[in-house]
Amino acid sequence: MLIRNAIRSQVKARLRADDLARLAENRAATDTLTGLINPRAIFALLEQIVAERRPCWFGVIDLDGFKAINELYGHVSGDHLLREVATRLSSFADEGTSIARIGGDEFAIVQERPMTAAQIVRLGDGMIEAVRGAVTYGSQKLTVSASCGFAHYPDMAADTMALYERSDFALYKAKQSHRGHTVVFNKENELEIREHVLIERAFREGDLENEMFLMFQPQTNILTGRVVGFEALARWRSASIGLVPPDLFIRVAEKSGYINDITKLLFKKGLAAAASWPVDVRLSFNLSLHDVSNLDTINWIIGQVKESGVDPARLDFEITETAVMFDFDLSCRALGMLVDLGAKIALDDFGSGHSSFEYIDRLPLHKIKIDKSFVDKVSHNRVSVEIVSVILTLCQRLNLDCVLEGVETTKQLEVLSGLGAQLIQGYLFGRPMEGPRVLESLMQFERKLSA
Ligand code: C2E
Ligand code: CA
Ligand code: CA
Repeated sequence: MLIRNAIRSQVKARLRADDLARLAENRAATDTLTGLINPRAIFALLEQIVAERRPCWFGVIDLDGFKAINELYGHVSGDHLLREVATRLSSFADEGTSIARIGGDEFAIVQERPMTAAQIVRLGDGMIEAVRGAVTYGSQKLTVSASCGFAHYPDMAADTMALYERSDFALYKAKQSHRGHTVVFNKENELEIREHVLIERAFREGDLENEMFLMFQPQTNILTGRVVGFEALARWRSASIGLVPPDLFIRVAEKSGYINDITKLLFKKGLAAAASWPVDVRLSFNLSLHDVSNLDTINWIIGQVKESGVDPARLDFEITETAVMFDFDLSCRALGMLVDLGAKIALDDFGSGHSSFEYIDRLPLHKIKIDKSFVDKVSHNRVSVEIVSVILTLCQRLNLDCVLEGVETTKQLEVLSGLGAQLIQGYLFGRPMEGPRVLESLMQFERKLSA
């Protein structure tokens, strides 16, 4: 992401006329590792095409799983893989097709031949297919996948900067929901990209330390009636754009490289809150995709916990399938470090993904949170009741805790407790509340219990 930001600023800088001339001279410059065209040269080419108002497609290909290979097999293997990927991609290069390496594991394509969107998707998918084949290095078999985003000049973007941003956005869309495929920028993305730009600016210019805070939602054991812990939920009241929904700003933060900083500032606040609670009350904290594949962030978290004096055994870290899918081996290592510290791991939004069961035995899990979409249906849908029942039994057998999320009605509660559910989180037992209200509400719960 940082590389992308650097390129973005390079593109911005390149819009200056004096740079233009200088960079045009450097067009032949190659990337020393792979022998492909380097970023300067490809963007200079793009500038030239745009200056001459010639139509073209611009694409970005990003490898999925490259980081894990670097981590597991070392940089020499990683470099070998990059060179092989570059060789395979360059087989697509011809008079109208230029291919460059523009970041660690990111490549760009300029296609000057006229092509329809369907044709460009075929080209992109063909490149992905070529990249996907295993690369042999000594006794190692290295495999990566790739995703690709394309945008067209002038149909989808008016200048180089916008063209890069739009193809990058299409790549982001591919990574989000069409991993391993090619996505072409479309009109609906236009509004979304504007929203993202606005949010990124507010990240850059805002005082995030003060603007961001946590709300805490109780998780209740319905057998004992006690609140066992609180899930910390991020909130952001931006001075320039107001209250931004957490799933939206977390997504933009992941995309733009702000997520690690945001996780850190939120985790500090979460730890400080937990330190003021009774010692038998747990704190559940959400980790995002980039946190679980970043050992620096995980080490930082571990350092903070040790410094805070909060018993790590009181902490749950919530992760999602999409977070670990991004870089499975690295995520497992990161989660293992948190488990070694004494914390617990919860698999969030269980049942909302595709292959949930697959992860249960591959991850160091202590807890599963059944997604609200199942809970919503248990009061009127027999199949959902059966599914929840099976998951509860599975958790029991595997000695995992199970939290039912998003419980809103007494009818749902009745069905769930009939199935043997113990841990409940939802509006029925408490909405997310501001930090200072937590102690007060704990006292209220206790008073209710003893009444
Ligand atoms: P999540 O982790 O699944 O969090 C549960 C969401 O469901 C929260 O929405 C919560 O307010 C909502 N919820 C809980 N009970 C009920 C209920 O009974 N009815 C309904 N309708 N909703 C209920 P929220 O706070 O808007 O968070 C949305 C998502 O944003 C979270 O989903 C999580 O994916 C992400 N998020 C929130 N805080 C953080 C954070 O600190 N870090 C990261 N990485 N992601 C966060
Ligand atoms: Ca969660
Ligand atoms: Ca959830």
